[in-house]
Amino acid sequence: MGRLTESYERFLWAIGRQSGRVVSVIAAVTYGGVGLALPLAFDWSVSWLVTANMIGTSFAGLFALTWIANGVQASYRRKLIEWTTDLRHLSAQEFEWLVGEVFRREGWKVDETGSQTGPDGNVDLRLARKGARVLVQCKRWESWLVGVDEIRAFGGTLLRERLPGTAGIFVTLSDFTDAARADAKDLGLTLLDGRDLYARVERVRTQEPCPICESPMKLDRSPHGWWFRCLAPGCSGKRNLGSEPALAVQILTEGPEK
Ligand SMILES: [Zn+2]
Repeated sequence: MGRLTESYERFLWAIGRQSGRVVSVIAAVTYGGVGLALPLAFDWSVSWLVTANMIGTSFAGLFALTWIANGVQASYRRKLIEWTTDLRHLSAQEFEWLVGEVFRREGWKVDETGSQTGPDGNVDLRLARKGARVLVQCKRWESWLVGVDEIRAFGGTLLRERLPGTAGIFVTLSDFTDAARADAKDLGLTLLDGRDLYARVERVRTQEPCPICESPMKLDRSPHGWWFRCLAPGCSGKRNLGSEPALAVQILTEGPEK
């Protein structure tokens, strides 16, 4: 995906996150400002006034339409996976969506319960597939490790839900302490650290096609940085990634910064 497309996606995303009231105000100001106030204030000729009015209307309409389109959150969430190279830009909520989307693509029915308000305790996502139930807890943390306390709390939640430990998945961008891993093993929990999550995202994300032969490309790295590399034998197709994604990917694949 090109840089321009990516910027556009981010722009859409930014608008999608505003409330309806904010968007109405932006639309009204754009229309009133560009379309009316500006031409009147500078005493523009009628033809300029008409042009400015059209531009103002178009922009105001664009804002409103974009916001409405973003209201269709399901498709918007699917988009997240396609262009989110730098997971660190995601809020905790968006991180949950991303994790949910990964499981959805792996064939689970995903229910985003959200842990902040509900009585669900430590449950962020509820997964269902062929009669099986799985609870997922997401911790977006990237700079410190998930410890024993979080693991035990999650174990308690599973117990309250009358589910075995094997029905629990704990996801973080960071990593787990050794003690936490040992506890999780006893409980039967599945742990996904930044590296695991990254591998899963990489598996389910829509592949970027090679610019030469259109084969799927894979994320790869060398001492010089990160790039997408064509998988076809003998093809040298690749796309270099900027320096900012490199940092994010490094954190995703090597754990937290030391
Ligand atoms: Zn190729």
